[in-house]
Amino acid sequence: IRNPKSSVATVCADMVLGQDDFVLGKKLGEGAFGVVYKASLANPEAAKKQGDVVLKKATEYGAVEIWMNERVRRACASSCADFLYGFRETKAKGKGAEEYWIIWRFEGEDTLYDLMQSKEFPYNVETKILGNVQDLPKGIARENKIIQTVMRQLLFALDGLHSTGIVHRDIKPQNVIFSEGSRTFKIIDLGAAADLRVGINYIPKEFLLDPRYAAPEQYIMSTQTPSAPSVPVATTLSPVLWQLNLPDRFDIYSLGLIFLQMAFPSLRTDSSLIQFNRQLKRCDYDLQAWRNLVEPRATAELRRGFDIMDLDNGIGWELLTSMVRYKARQRTSAEGALAHPYFNREGLLGLSVMQ
Ligand code: ADP
Ligand code: MG
Repeated sequence: IRNPKSSVATVCADMVLGQDDFVLGKKLGEGAFGVVYKASLANPEAAKKQGDVVLKKATEYGAVEIWMNERVRRACASSCADFLYGFRETKAKGKGAEEYWIIWRFEGEDTLYDLMQSKEFPYNVETKILGNVQDLPKGIARENKIIQTVMRQLLFALDGLHSTGIVHRDIKPQNVIFSEGSRTFKIIDLGAAADLRVGINYIPKEFLLDPRYAAPEQYIMSTQTPSAPSVPVATTLSPVLWQLNLPDRFDIYSLGLIFLQMAFPSLRTDSSLIQFNRQLKRCDYDLQAWRNLVEPRATAELRRGFDIMDLDNGIGWELLTSMVRYKARQRTSAEGALAHPYFNREGLLGLSVMQ
């Protein structure tokens, strides 16, 4: 990685920032690879100008995350939370270990996970995106429109990442933030992302993957792929491999599971998702076979999910099954999904404002 200090300086145009320039607030998350805080700039004027930020103190993987964020900012900024600054810091105490500090704009309080935990979902999202202006009565048609808007935004964000050559590999509701500023959902947490075009983090670290949302192939690239460099190189051989292996379809599978959870309230808890995964595996990852298995004795809640997916001659179910498939090759791409009639059809019904 190049020296991030020299390449990033947006918070305070011509300043170089260090750890003393930030005041840490509430802890927002803690994973195996770092701790995330809400924070602000120590300088009161700068703090006022910038607003709240999010600060991640990351381990050695932070270098990759900064690299990915810089790339996203240049190529597809609207896909992800606004990246502001990143630098390497030597810990004052401890064994001289180094950590990376990564700073983003504080986009808002709610992840898609938080919003989906509410009984109000998806109406709590509708309020955020539109205000309460729907003239439809509450019910599956209106819920479908809200879910569709979220899906369109997430596919748009994923399409941006994938066209840039980045596979996220950890797409899940916890890594989707609602940006109050842009009133859209954005992707966060590029800590497990791979940039296949330049070989960054090429060698899959499958232990980073969240098994609840991971596609069955686990490995992004087939093991037959000749080994590629794990450090940045200037050449771009990878588009060929991209074509051969379709690593972007890993994210599509994960997003398909999010789609499923949005439509099926009974699949929103971790334990029910784990149970679903078990059932789907037993059905050889054939979603239609899973449906045939559970539909005859479906609870009212499960029934409701199928009813949403069956609207407009089952166009939603059709899109879902084109995302959640065993073989990566048979899954749709993000670009392909955006062109799916699930979105077109509804656009004609007067909700184009929801984009
Ligand atoms: P990790 O999962 O590695 O702990 P994340 O980057 O996913 O780190 O961040 C952890 C949590 O912090 C997120 O789930 C979210 O709640 C919050 N968060 C992260 N980035 C932002 C942001 N830009 N704006 C608001 N909240 C954020
Ligand atoms: Mg995360």
